Amino acid sequence: MKIELKNLCKSFDKKTNAIDNMNLIIEDGEFVALLGPSGCGKSTTMLMIAGIYKPDSGEIRFNGQLVNDWEPKDRNIGMVFQSYALYPHMTVLENIAFPLKQQKVPKKERIERARQAAEMVRLGHVLDRKPDELSGGQQQRVALARAIVKKPKVLLLDEPLSNLDARLKIEMREEISRLHKELGITTILVTHDQEEAMTMADRIAVMKDGKIIQYGTPMDLYHRPSDFFVAQFIGTPPMNVFRGKLIGNQLYFLNQSTELDHEQWNTAQGELDVYVGIRPHDVKLGKGGDIRVKGIVQMIEPIGHAQIIRINVGSEQLRLFAEPTVAIEYKSEITVSFHLSSLHLFDMQTGKSLR
Ligand code: ATP
Repeated sequence: MKIELKNLCKSFDKKTNAIDNMNLIIEDGEFVALLGPSGCGKSTTMLMIAGIYKPDSGEIRFNGQLVNDWEPKDRNIGMVFQSYALYPHMTVLENIAFPLKQQKVPKKERIERARQAAEMVRLGHVLDRKPDELSGGQQQRVALARAIVKKPKVLLLDEPLSNLDARLKIEMREEISRLHKELGITTILVTHDQEEAMTMADRIAVMKDGKIIQYGTPMDLYHRPSDFFVAQFIGTPPMNVFRGKLIGNQLYFLNQSTELDHEQWNTAQGELDVYVGIRPHDVKLGKGGDIRVKGIVQMIEPIGHAQIIRINVGSEQLRLFAEPTVAIEYKSEITVSFHLSSLHLFDMQTGKSLR
């Protein structure tokens, strides 16, 4: 099902807009993540799509049809919340079949469809257990099976992995992605975890203060952040950021001066304060890049396939990845470099990218 949000507004206290003129198109079968910090309006958006909250103004369309006034039960939506909200006295099978019972589906069909949904999430072997006899990951799967048992046209997932430990999170990420591919169902994930959004979603809407700041594929957001907020929010470790000044085509940062190609950058007419960003992945040991920087090694963090190195350059810090076998000494001075083309520049006032 294709979902369109047009000029959507919602406020709770009449003063501030929890959702501020939001526009978003989610194509049929797409997996979209709403990503942003706490309070940016992700859940409110989700609850409006589900029909639990009514927008103050604007339109919600499903396959082109205006659904603003449709009841939640008529919207053909399955939901999974952070708290799985399973019924403790019911077995796994009964929990999964429950939405069908509410729809008055005959018992035999109910059981058959609940079994199928349980198989989809690989729970076929625990159907007779109660929720308290299940692991966190299994409980999560019950909630998922219960959400898909009605064969909804849209699946809404609100921070579904928050309560799982790191290993289970990765397992369930893969599980949900697989389920999405198998069912081809339009899926919306609400999360504040950029890694979750990056690994699962086809497209990500990055939200701040009730607005979408950028909507694009994970690679778009990583390589071409249109806004400083997005640049900082996406990527681990986060983008290195330095204060800089742009005077015409000349960029000053880290005690260096570099001329920018004005064909590639929206350089300033006069003077402009800028944030200069460089991803840790784009910084290399040695002098191979256009811009060279010397710094003192402050931290060496081995992570198996690489080491994360942090150096101090004057009063600023810079992180980079190094090969796992390179010997680097704590407190030694090293030279690192990067290419001009991998720099990101943002207007300090507006946050907008100068690309
Ligand atoms: P979180 O990740 O913390 O759940 P979120 O991005 O989902 O945050 P929302 O829960 O949508 O954000 O909240 C958006 C704004 O609306 C916040 O300022 C919040 O305080 C406010 N808000 C949300 N629900 C209500 C409500 N029922 N009554 C009053 N204010 C609300």
